[in-house]
Amino acid sequence: MGFFSFKRKKYVTLTVKDKATEDKLEQENLSSNELSPEEKNSSLWIKCPSCKEILYKNDLDGNLKKCPFCDHYFYMTAKERIELLIDENTFEEFDSNLIPCNPLSFPDYDEKYQSAVEKTNMNEGVISGVGNLNGLKVSLAVMDFSFMGGSMGSVVGEKITRAIERAASLEIPLILVSTSGGARMHEGILSLMQMAKTSAAIERLKIKGIPYISIPVDPTTGGVTASFAMLGDIILTEPKALIGFAGPRVIEQTIKQQLPEGFQRSEFLQEHGMIDVIAKREEMKDVLHKLLSCAS
Ligand SMILES: [Zn+2]
Repeated sequence: MGFFSFKRKKYVTLTVKDKATEDKLEQENLSSNELSPEEKNSSLWIKCPSCKEILYKNDLDGNLKKCPFCDHYFYMTAKERIELLIDENTFEEFDSNLIPCNPLSFPDYDEKYQSAVEKTNMNEGVISGVGNLNGLKVSLAVMDFSFMGGSMGSVVGEKITRAIERAASLEIPLILVSTSGGARMHEGILSLMQMAKTSAAIERLKIKGIPYISIPVDPTTGGVTASFAMLGDIILTEPKALIGFAGPRVIEQTIKQQLPEGFQRSEFLQEHGMIDVIAKREEMKDVLHKLLSCAS
């Protein structure tokens, strides 16, 4: 004793995350913000993530899914958005029977798809069809974030392409409401091909001179932003919606700079020319009608 002291050296431990892990965390972050209507409605009360008030869920439903205290916008399902925008009993749905296959035999894809079907009561992450907007006939497709994070696989891309082609053949305006975490990785390159397919269909619509209004809502990112969501003749959104390609954290790490306040939110994007119109949820239908009446 006294000659040696057997003290354990203290080491600093560093957690090193690679870019793939960061991307995954970001994606999870995005998804964890999203709860299906069933999850949100599992109790009678919901806490507003913005003002932290406890809300009675019926109050929220009766207020277009907006917080009555701070006006925070909660997610709307595709069905709720169709009810918001289309005249009662005029919506005719198409292609509801299309379901994806598992072309790459991606592990757990079948199970994940099945659980999304059970959770949302939908066959895929988009509902498409034809209906009247204040008496004006439109072709409409609405994405739903609660279905696998609104990811675009081959069926989502196909249904959106058909909605575009329907607008072209019936010569009626097109409205696409998008919300998405991006392309569906489980279908690999087939998901990415949907970007080219939808963009080509929109180009053909433009050649015919038929108006297309794109409505990316919170959140719209990845391959959907990089294709049809940004190709509208007019791009319309709700206040404070997150719209971008890569998430803010990935950008910050790549360019090693802090991003400005409100980066990738509607108001910032409108100021910088990426968004044309920001409309409140309760005014959305009338704003659309006004825009389409000018176009026709
Ligand atoms: Zn609130």
